[in-house]
Amino acid sequence: MVSTPLVVAVDGPSGSGKSSTARGVATRLGLAYLDTGAMYRAMTWALLERGTDLDDPAAIARDAEHVVIESGTDPQAPTIVADGVDVSGPIRSRRVTDHVSPVSAVPRVRELLVTLQRRYVEAADGIVVEGRDIGSVVAPDAPVKVHLVADAAARAARRALETGDADAAATLESLARRDRIDSTRAASPLTQAEGSVLIDGTHLTLEQVIDQVVTLVDAVRDPA
Ligand code: C5P
Repeated sequence: MVSTPLVVAVDGPSGSGKSSTARGVATRLGLAYLDTGAMYRAMTWALLERGTDLDDPAAIARDAEHVVIESGTDPQAPTIVADGVDVSGPIRSRRVTDHVSPVSAVPRVRELLVTLQRRYVEAADGIVVEGRDIGSVVAPDAPVKVHLVADAAARAARRALETGDADAAATLESLARRDRIDSTRAASPLTQAEGSVLIDGTHLTLEQVIDQVVTLVDAVRDPA
């Protein structure tokens, strides 16, 4: 039985359906929702605004200290603010997407954002958190951990639909590039966390994936 507030960790690569799944689970269970990818994107947006040299990890680490990021955790209307600016739209731009992985690979950026993410987790009365390192680093004690995957073509098709990008080959290449950096970086690479349940959503509908996660939550809330 889980007596402490429930934490559901949803990790996986870009385009695997993490966001829709995490939001759907949070909405269905009445939990808060935190999109940690949006926080790394917001950090990237703020550094681009400041003119930080993103080829220089030391400059990224130095300037990241001054960036203020706030996340709204309502799964039906999540918000993301960087340095007082609503950046929900700009963080999905090609420019931010192209720079987010190198920024996320800087250890100081991860320290700053993981500290902030843990604060949101502690403040919530139950939360679904999505990202790459939630089950491994941010909330390793989460009672429910999911690692969501889908094959590359399915992920690219989903992402192209979300972004309205008609160039499927370019979307696939952009995803592959981010996956490569995210999986091979020294600091918290994307791996399947210990104790996480692998769900392959390639041939499942969103509702079916949400059902599977909710079943896992029910099992820890009310073990048979
Ligand atoms: O999930 P999303 O695609 O928006 O994440 C954008 C980028 O943020 C990822 O490609 C990855 O570089 C970084 N990220 C991360 N750790 C997380 C969430 C996202 O490094 N927990």
